[in-house]
Amino acid sequence: MRPLLLAHCGAGSDPRVQDAAEAAALAGSGILRKGGRALDAVIAAIVVLEDDPRLNAGTGSRMRVDGRIQMDAGLMDGSLEAGAVAGVESVRNPILVARDVLTSPHVLLAGPDATAFARSKGHPPYDPATPESRARLEESLRKIREGHLPRYARKWKSMDFHGTVGAVARDRRGRFAAGTSTGGTAFMMPGRVGDTPIVGAGFYAGAAGAVSTTGIGEEIMKWVLAKRVYDQMASGRTPHRAVDRALADFPRGVSVGVIAVGSRGWGEACDGPMAFASTSPRRTL
Ligand code: ASP
Repeated sequence: MRPLLLAHCGAGSDPRVQDAAEAAALAGSGILRKGGRALDAVIAAIVVLEDDPRLNAGTGSRMRVDGRIQMDAGLMDGSLEAGAVAGVESVRNPILVARDVLTSPHVLLAGPDATAFARSKGHPPYDPATPESRARLEESLRKIREGHLPRYARKWKSMDFHGTVGAVARDRRGRFAAGTSTGGTAFMMPGRVGDTPIVGAGFYAGAAGAVSTTGIGEEIMKWVLAKRVYDQMASGRTPHRAVDRALADFPRGVSVGVIAVGSRGWGEACDGPMAFASTSPRRTL
């Protein structure tokens, strides 16, 4: 089967980060071209995105309202092996910690124990903060104080933006994998966990394809969005029809984006701008 990989830079991402999506797709496709596994290609693509300080994952992640950075990441392959971390702190690449969880007896590790697990696996302490992430926190705090909040953040009574990263891939042997990594949204209490590390919400992979989602995690979780898109592909829809359908059903006015790959090609949909890149220009193969 022809290998395929898609990478995204998050719902609402600035078109100026398109080069990041392309660099990630290139890193992943290098592995697929040599006959490598979809899972390894997804990981390689996400590492590139996490290392890009312009994106809200790994280096450059959003800060919680108390100034801390707690990151979420999840990973799954078509044989239903999954690994995820929630609220992991002071590591460079949460997706690599998720990979270590995938090879452990568990699926999801959270909080300080996820960080301790990362250390035990050799991930050294690393500060993912950047001057830009500090400036974005200041901006969010100002909006909270002034009550200038977007609709999804109304429960903050007075909460913006993301730029999560993700990738989906199909390798030569027709195996699928999906991964997603994020610093979260603009308005977050310490301890908040979004959709990104939740199987079926932020990512899903099975024998019929792979899906990575982005947007407001609180809503995506309730919609079990990645599994919804997957189920559409499993029932025979092309990936692009599956993502369009899922977005048509999703509540209006809540930022959301999806990428998917299946045996019949790939699909991408977002309610606004979303930088993404694919290794094949044709959606339906
Ligand atoms: N889904 C992520 C979260 O809610 C944010 C994003 O995709 O932009 O944590």
